[in-house]
Amino acid sequence: MAQETLHREVVIIGSGPAGLTAAIYAARADLKPLVVEGPQPGGQLTITTEVENYPGFAKGIQGPELMDEFREQAARFGTEFLVTWITKVDLSERPFKVHTDDHLIEAETLIIASGASAKWLGIPGEAPAPKGLGGLGVSACATCDGFFFKGKKIVVVGGGDTAMEEANFLTRYASSVTVIHRRDHLRASKIMQDKAFKNEKISFIWEMAVEAVLGTQETGVTGVRLRDLKTGEESVFDCEGFFVAIGHKPNTDLFKGWLEMDEVGYLKTAGRSMATNIPGVFACGDAQDSFYRQAVTAAGTGCMAAIDAERFLDNLPVPTATGEEITMEGEVVSADHERITMPDGEVISNIAGDETEGAAISGG
Ligand code: NAP
Repeated sequence: MAQETLHREVVIIGSGPAGLTAAIYAARADLKPLVVEGPQPGGQLTITTEVENYPGFAKGIQGPELMDEFREQAARFGTEFLVTWITKVDLSERPFKVHTDDHLIEAETLIIASGASAKWLGIPGEAPAPKGLGGLGVSACATCDGFFFKGKKIVVVGGGDTAMEEANFLTRYASSVTVIHRRDHLRASKIMQDKAFKNEKISFIWEMAVEAVLGTQETGVTGVRLRDLKTGEESVFDCEGFFVAIGHKPNTDLFKGWLEMDEVGYLKTAGRSMATNIPGVFACGDAQDSFYRQAVTAAGTGCMAAIDAERFLDNLPVPTATGEEITMEGEVVSADHERITMPDGEVISNIAGDETEGAAISGG
């Protein structure tokens, strides 16, 4: 089947809080953004239940309902949506090319908001209800769900910084937190380990694998089945909450070879802006944030990415990771703001009122 070609000023990949906030801002700037929704429209919030920490909802709101509101707000200002699977991108020149089975999408600017996915163990009982006990005591986000475990006995799986952070956070609510780790020592940084070891509510079970989460749809989680990795012996450990904290994986495989990313795959952005290493490509939300990972921070960076794209399309300078600023036409403003290097290599002064303003400092 022939591919339909679409050409847009702003194309946003992803429809979680980051992507849809970028869409709201870009649409209100009359840039008619196209949001390409992936396999999970609405992002990770659509698989959570109650969201109590998103500002503006004093009584809390269900995750899917919150994302419906985001979507409706983006649509109200003229955002266009396309649910499709992206097969390939070509970021070698503008317009950037986004290939799907049915479309070739050409983008003058690209905002990547493809999110991240929590890693799961893949054991029985872990899947979302009703298939498993996800939402009934199984979670991968202490900040989101910890509140529901007041006075309860909780297990956290993992030995990295996330596991220590989640374990410490959960002691605010839980009667006890047991960290179960597959090795005899932690991977977490020393400061995070020390905090966990000092916390009287936290205990550790070493060199054990969790084989299954136990419980029913009626009872919720009642325990976990463990296997001793040295002896092979099996046992049951009672608990009412089960938090998986074995890391996240950003959904950025599509951009490998094009965009700079860290060793896990989080996209690198400039710091003072959401610019990636390719001018005109911006990244926001969990695809570039391994640290905060909150709906509200994702929304914040989505707003920033849209403003950056808007500035770029207006041929205004956008900060890059080096501290330099770059325009769509290829002018580069030095990090100290004193010089502009023109696309042909000519360098001119950027100092207001400078007598040499407009005059070449050096030829290109
Ligand atoms: P991580 O460092 O990769 O740690 C993942 C942990 O989960 C490891 O202990 C690993 O065990 C365990 N694990 C992985 N797969 C498993 C499986 N299938 N079964 C059982 N256990 C499994 O991930 P992270 O803790 O999410 O941290 C990611 C990055 O974010 C790190 O750079 C971290 O420093 C950073 N971070 C920092 C903070 C902070 O400073 N406050 C907070 C969160 C994250 P092994 O040890 O045996 O490999």
